[in-house]
Amino acid sequence: MTAAAAPTGAWRTATVRSVEHPSPHAVVLRLEVPDRIDHLPGQHYVIRLTADDGYVAQRSYSIASPTSDPLLECYVERLDGGEVSSFLAEVAEVGDELEVRGPIGGWFVWRGDTPALGVAGGSGAAPLVSMLRHARDLGRPDLLHLAVSAATIDRVPYADELAAAGALIALSRADADSGRAAGRLTAQELAPLVPAEGPCFVCGSARFADGATDLLTGLGVADHRIRVERFGPSG
Ligand SMILES: Cc1cc2nc3c(=O)[nH]c(=O)nc-3n(C[C@H](O)[C@H](O)[C@H](O)COP(=O)(O)OP(=O)(O)OC[C@H]3O[C@@H](n4cnc5c(N)ncnc54)[C@H](O)[C@@H]3O)c2cc1C
Repeated sequence: MTAAAAPTGAWRTATVRSVEHPSPHAVVLRLEVPDRIDHLPGQHYVIRLTADDGYVAQRSYSIASPTSDPLLECYVERLDGGEVSSFLAEVAEVGDELEVRGPIGGWFVWRGDTPALGVAGGSGAAPLVSMLRHARDLGRPDLLHLAVSAATIDRVPYADELAAAGALIALSRADADSGRAAGRLTAQELAPLVPAEGPCFVCGSARFADGATDLLTGLGVADHRIRVERFGPSG
């Protein structure tokens, strides 16, 4: 890793070093990226696939690993009929090479030098996990509060790691093992997690991001503190 070996805009060839399926809906890929630029938690990469006939598809994926990790980790939710996520979840194997570009993003980033709140829906938890791991590296997990929402626990990325870190996990469907009544994340649940100062990161589908932003605004969080990453369809 280096801070200046290649500009962010350059495409590089990453090698898949591990493939894990934490649930039938997702894959965790760990990539070796030669001469990669250190990323900040919250940033993402673009993965570009090129078919034999020249057809190209590229999608953005957040980095789940901390800066200190020698490999780049991505959590990809497999969408039914999704071109790129299905390929990554069902076809990609250890040893495969993927074209990647990054790290990208300058607003949705956390350096670990302020208190912060992260609120995610489903796979939107991926960049928050990078922040959590970074906070642990710094010895400052107390700076970061996290809330993650999903329909069921198997839709929560890194559920065990998040739960162990004290993250609030809000499941909208009933789960016998959860001490919480099924339902969406509420303002009452978020209120004690909002720091007096520092950014509030919101990440997930457009619908989730809008709802979570409304909750934070309703709690009196100023607009300039709310940083949103929408995982909408990308082309
Ligand atoms: C900055 C950024 C970071 C992202 N990080 C991640 C990440 O860490 N993990 C991750 O799994 N995804 C992430 N995404 C979403 C990702 O880029 C793709 O949009 C997603 O994987 C779907 O691509 P696809 O080719 O499989 O589906 P497509 O072939 O593009 O679409 C298939 C169908 O799914 C719908 N669709 C497309 N994207 C989504 C979506 N995100 N949610 C719901 N429906 C969708 C389409 O409208 C279409 O109906 C991120 C997006 C952005 C913009």
